[in-house]
Amino acid sequence: MPFLENRNPPPQDDYDVAIIGCGVSGANIARRLSAYDVKTAILEKAADVSFGTSKANSGIVHGGFHHNKKYLKARLEIQGNLMFDQLRRELDFPFKRNGIIVAALHEDEMKAVGHLYMQGVENGVIGIELCSRERILDLEPKLSPDTVGGLYAPGGGMVEPYRFVFALVESAVKNGVHLYTDFKVNAAAYDAAAYDAAAHDAAAHDGGAWTVRAEDGRTVKARYVVNSAGLYADEVSRIFGGEEFRIKVRKGEYFLMDRLTRARPERVVFPVPTAVSKGMLVIPTVEGTVLVGPTADMVEDKTDYSTTAAHLEEILESGKAMIPSLSRNDVITSFAGLRPCLEEDFYIEASARAPAFVQVAGIQSPGLTASPAIGLYVKDLLKGMGLNLTEKARWDPFVKDRPRFRELNPYEQDSLIAADPRWGNIVCRCEKVSEAEIIQAVRLGHYTLDGIKYFARAQMGRCQGGFCTYKIIKIIMRETGLSWEEITKHGGASRLLETEL
Ligand SMILES: Cc1cc2nc3c(=O)[nH]c(=O)nc-3n(C[C@H](O)[C@H](O)[C@H](O)COP(=O)(O)OP(=O)(O)OC[C@H]3O[C@@H](n4cnc5c(N)ncnc54)[C@H](O)[C@@H]3O)c2cc1C
Repeated sequence: MPFLENRNPPPQDDYDVAIIGCGVSGANIARRLSAYDVKTAILEKAADVSFGTSKANSGIVHGGFHHNKKYLKARLEIQGNLMFDQLRRELDFPFKRNGIIVAALHEDEMKAVGHLYMQGVENGVIGIELCSRERILDLEPKLSPDTVGGLYAPGGGMVEPYRFVFALVESAVKNGVHLYTDFKVNAAAYDAAAYDAAAHDAAAHDGGAWTVRAEDGRTVKARYVVNSAGLYADEVSRIFGGEEFRIKVRKGEYFLMDRLTRARPERVVFPVPTAVSKGMLVIPTVEGTVLVGPTADMVEDKTDYSTTAAHLEEILESGKAMIPSLSRNDVITSFAGLRPCLEEDFYIEASARAPAFVQVAGIQSPGLTASPAIGLYVKDLLKGMGLNLTEKARWDPFVKDRPRFRELNPYEQDSLIAADPRWGNIVCRCEKVSEAEIIQAVRLGHYTLDGIKYFARAQMGRCQGGFCTYKIIKIIMRETGLSWEEITKHGGASRLLETEL
């Protein structure tokens, strides 16, 4: 099958670093390491990357004013935010700095707004502004006339999170990183005498190596292991004999609104935050739709992605308080994301209990924003632990630009169709996704229905795949040779069609 080179190669026993979990944290770490002569493997339990928390979030590149600089997460958020422009140039993923607004609906909320403003100033947020009623309504005319003032951070923005992860992984793999999918790590053992430390020039490393085993029996060996397993980082830590901690789960439910809604704001609109949450927002996604949410409720089950009518009522009411023109008629669907919560801060440290083991845990919001800086931070941690980092003589930071048909002008569309008529065969009519884009997704290794949805946006529009799913299944079968019984929504047992009637 024409899948990505370096994807699921035969398991090897000479990796320098194995990264467990490929959400936005693992992907940034892998891509950063790919610039060095370091042999790296990503071990991901799902059928594709970005299928954990990194697939269902608000997609905001935060503005750097919500958290105090005493927290690591705040420092990495500020640094990460500033790294997005260069990453966008190199990796061609949807990203826009459309700015963030915090809208105060009562005079008594202005004290909290003033606090956020001062925090932003202390954090060095560029261009942050305390706004009068006139100024905030000028910046965002769709806000409620009850708005009394607020805050504006022009450096905040929106990113398409899955496409960001896909591009990071494509770049890492292109530069030699090996990606193993369907690799659920369930056992590990450390052999302190596995390597000759002197041969690896690693004074701070004892010369040992981890043997990491997947549920299906595959094993790889690596001198260092990074635990970026999101909601399951506590279980992975336990497998490696690392620190004992418990990841708690805070669920966030959303409404997704059609791109035709008249309530779409220009900027991300936040309410004034509470002590536990940034509140429910109105988010103009970089793809053109609108998100309203998320809620913030502790749940026990790490697989509970359900949404409830009661919560969705609450979300709509909260959104309408800020933007009254929001209408339930524009709602396409609802979904939920799960925040992996630990204490108040990120936990990114070399383990004090397990050798050559780095914890990247508790990466809740603003993890997406901070992720490019997490990549740098972990690279430096590994260096401090003895990993030899020699820059590659030839590292290519760029991935190919991959145009989206719906975003091109008619001349550009015509020239693509002239070169390959499959650009003119629109498979997903809601999001105007062509057959050529779906083939591209499959050839890059995204061959589940969700993988194609996150890469190409087919099934993301108003009909939510009602019209195009069967056409996509046929393209996957043709391109991969998979039978229809083998096509899944998101890997594992999520098959769509059964043989028995
Ligand atoms: C509702 C919500 C809204 C948010 N909004 C924002 C926002 O607007 N801006 C922002 O900056 N941040 C936001 N965040 C936070 C952000 O989404 C997360 O910080 C980020 O996605 C975490 O990425 P991660 O790679 O650490 O974890 P994940 O994306 O969960 O990746 C972990 C990976 O590990 C894999 N894995 C788990 N166990 C194993 C195993 N045993 N073996 C192999 N692989 C394994 C999983 O399959 C998964 O792919 C939000 C989060 C939520 C839930």
